[in-house]
Amino acid sequence: MVDPTSDLNEDVSEDDAPTCAVCGDALVQDPDHRVVTRVRDGEVQTTHFCSDAHRDEWTD
Ligand SMILES: [Zn+2]
Repeated sequence: MVDPTSDLNEDVSEDDAPTCAVCGDALVQDPDHRVVTRVRDGEVQTTHFCSDAHRDEWTD
């Protein structure tokens, strides 16, 4: 049974974890983890950041 309140990162090991697009840190149960999702050329791109600061710093 799926618990709708569970954190998406719960069972992610460090090997499977996304990494910050700015500093490359593995984002394992990181409370400041930020995700930006957008569509480019018909493909959904998901970019991860360790913090608001790095999200703001990121330029494509
Ligand atoms: Zn970062």
